[in-house]
Amino acid sequence: MRPTAPPDYPDDPIAEPVHKGRGALSNESSRYDSERRIRTTDGWEAEAASAAEDDELPPLRTTLTRDATRTILARNSSPDIPFDRSINPYRGCEHGCIYCFARPTHAYLGLSPGLDFETKILFKPEAAKLLAAELASPKYRPDVIAMGTNTDPYQPVERELKVTRQILRVLSDFNNPVGIVTKNHMVTRDIDILRSARWRRPAFRWAS
Ligand code: SF4
Repeated sequence: MRPTAPPDYPDDPIAEPVHKGRGALSNESSRYDSERRIRTTDGWEAEAASAAEDDELPPLRTTLTRDATRTILARNSSPDIPFDRSINPYRGCEHGCIYCFARPTHAYLGLSPGLDFETKILFKPEAAKLLAAELASPKYRPDVIAMGTNTDPYQPVERELKVTRQILRVLSDFNNPVGIVTKNHMVTRDIDILRSARWRRPAFRWAS
């Protein structure tokens, strides 16, 4: 069978298939990629369209990757940010808010700020150990550590991994103040630590 029309590729992108239950509609290449990936047509779009009607897209599953970072406290000296140190136990966020300002950070990993951001999650299994070592250093000066400033520390997988919970235990043990930004009700799981007598004024913000 002959193609129905002369091919328009490679400059004529066609719509990405939509994955139900995800926030982003595409997996646009990151700004650092040397090549840009687009879906295009070879002229057989009529056949492809009728085949697509018969085919359900497979569910887009979330994958987890260990982040082997050796530094857990991120520092900043920005005058317009009310904290100078933060911890992000995860990179990427399965909550997938389309407006999320952290999406472009996935480009640093060679991943897309689109669907990759919400389906390819990195976690830091050594976070609590690294933090304990940093807080125990004689050079460390205590101050508020912000959590969830880049991506939400209560990813769905936190239920099993407990990376954030282990970090909170270390912060409590060292009596180091913490501020948490999350939109996940799972933060209430850790209320026992947040209520700890070690912290006179625990602070967290829960945005829905
Ligand atoms: S919950 Fe927060 S970090 Fe996660 S996608 Fe939404 S805005 Fe971004």
